[in-house]
Formats: sequence, C-alpha cells, structure tokens
Amino acid sequence: MRSPVSRRQFLKSTVFAAGAAVVGTGPAAAGPGTEEEPLATLIDISRCIGCEECVYACNDANARKFPEPEKPFPTMYPSRVPVEDWSDQRDVTDRLTPYNWLYIQYATGTKDGEEITLTIPRRCMHCQNPPCVKLCPWGAAKQQPSGLSRIDSQLCLGGSKCKDVCPWDIPQRQTGVGLYLDILPAFAGNGVMYKCDRCYDRLEKGEQPACIEACPEQVQVIGRRSEIIALAKERAQEMNGHIYGLDENGGTHTLYVSPVPFDQLTYDTGKGKPHLKPVKDTMADGSNLALALVIAPVAGAAAALGKFYNRIKEEA
Ligand code: SF4
Ligand code: SF4
Ligand code: SF4
Repeated sequence: MRSPVSRRQFLKSTVFAAGAAVVGTGPAAAGPGTEEEPLATLIDISRCIGCEECVYACNDANARKFPEPEKPFPTMYPSRVPVEDWSDQRDVTDRLTPYNWLYIQYATGTKDGEEITLTIPRRCMHCQNPPCVKLCPWGAAKQQPSGLSRIDSQLCLGGSKCKDVCPWDIPQRQTGVGLYLDILPAFAGNGVMYKCDRCYDRLEKGEQPACIEACPEQVQVIGRRSEIIALAKERAQEMNGHIYGLDENGGTHTLYVSPVPFDQLTYDTGKGKPHLKPVKDTMADGSNLALALVIAPVAGAAAALGKFYNRIKEEA
C-alpha cells in the first residue's frame, strides 16, 4: 500500500507513521536528517501481523545495492575467513542475509495469563554511538547526522569487524564482491558486509524508508528521537508495555515497544537472528574507546585511499 503522506507533508512534519503524520513540532520541523536531532524509528510490535510486506518492500527498494559476486572466489591464505555466499539464496527471508536486511522474528510470551505470539521486524538498531562505525579499521562504516549508520560497499573489505563488535551481529558478509578482489584477494576480508542503511537515499529525497511506507498496519513511526521516545512511552503506558532501545548499547535509533517484557519473550535466535537481551554500552568500555581513538585517523586515511582507488578505477 502506498502511503498517502505526500513528500511535502513528510518535509513539514517530523514524526510519521505510514499513512499518517502523528506528531508535528512546529517551525523547528525540518526535513529528515537534520543536524538538529537525529531521527529514530519506533516499532510497535503489538501492531505487527507478520505479513512481510515490509520485508519485500525493503528487498525491492534496495535490490540495486545488493551484491553481484564474481565466481569462482579467490582462495584465502590462511583460510581463516570463511567464504559466505548467499547469492544463490536470495529468496531467504527468515533471517538477515546480504540480500535480506529485514526479517520477521516470531516470539511467544504471556500477556494477562494467555500465551500470545508476536511478530517482530528485525534489522539494524542504528545505535547512537555505533561500535560498527567507531571500530571499522577501513573507515567503510559511517554514521550520518540523521543518526543512521551505513556501510560503504565501495570501501568495505569484508573483514567483519563491524559484525564482531555489533551486540546483535547485524552485518552480513557476501564473498566475491568489493575492493578486496582488486587489492588483496587472498588476504583481505573476503567480501563486503551488508545491512539496513535505513533507506538513506529515500530519506534524502524526502521519502519514508520503504518498510515504513509499505506496512499496512502502521507498525513503524519515524521522527526525531525525543519525540519517538515520548511516543514509545505513551504507547507503552497504553498497553502496560515495555520499551527496548532506550539504553541498549547506550541507546539506539530504533526503539521497540512490546506488550510483553523483552526478557520474557521466547524467540528463535542464532546466525542472522538477533536477540532482544539487555546490552551494555559497548563504546563505554575503556579498551574500545582507546581502540576507537587509535583507529580514527587510520580509518580516515584508508577510506580516502579507497575512494581515490575507486575514482582512478572508474576513470580508467
Ligand atoms: S509490513 Fe507491517 S505488519 Fe507486515 S510484517 Fe512488516 S511490520 Fe509487520
Ligand atoms: S545494531 Fe550493530 S550494525 Fe547496527 S548500528 Fe548498532 S552496532 Fe552497528
Ligand atoms: S529502513 Fe530501508 S533498508 Fe532498513 S529495513 Fe527498512 S526498507 Fe530495509
């Protein structure tokens, strides 16, 4: 279903559900991604019916960003970095993959003495202080002023540091694509990491992320984080519910509200299926802070070099 919210309305208001502006904050309201305050999304899982319209919308909207690997893959020395190839399983939607940046997680819990099933859209949490960005040694992961984080597929070497430091193991590797093939095919990270980029390109055009626009139940709302937090608290109060993302990993730009406490949910978890446990602030850890300080200049130089290499390659 296409949202009746026009681009003009989107630019005028700051908090949106698919189909309706929920809150507007007057003259300070600007377009998405202002530097005044980052945007956040609220995912109200009590509303989700598990139809996967959001999943298919995400796949359609982002298909041109998906990897097209070259085969056969180079042999790695040593072979410590495994080949990860999802190119023949592009239709998989029951977990995160390089070709599926959003999936619906099934969970059960008890509400008012009755067992209920909940369906939870899962993707990158877009942390306020993202370790995937701060600890990427190649400067390939960046955070934009709008609060979203994204991995530049032109610069990523697939070393998986972002996934290793992500509390939810969100980024997913595809082998046989990216810069490593040109510079260190046998020694670098064996691919490129992929994840939800919160439809940065749609936001830049004044459009909503595809998953939000496609949802028939207005499960997701996007707006300034302070307003999203206020809305999350309001919804939580209405349903006597619980919020996830206020403090997890130091606070995220994706918040969930649930009628069942998150630590009382039972759900399928594992590879490509993130948990919903409490998470301490990764970047508050002294060694990560120190590492981030060391990495920052190196990552900046590496990113500049990677961009220069890509430009030369394009012009050749
Ligand atoms: S489209 Fe909306 S209702 Fe359907 S699965 Fe996605 S979030 Fe849930
Ligand atoms: S959830 Fe993981 S991949 Fe997403 S911003 Fe946070 S650390 Fe990065
Ligand atoms: S915000 Fe965009 S990239 Fe992220 S899950 Fe939604 S549709 Fe996919």
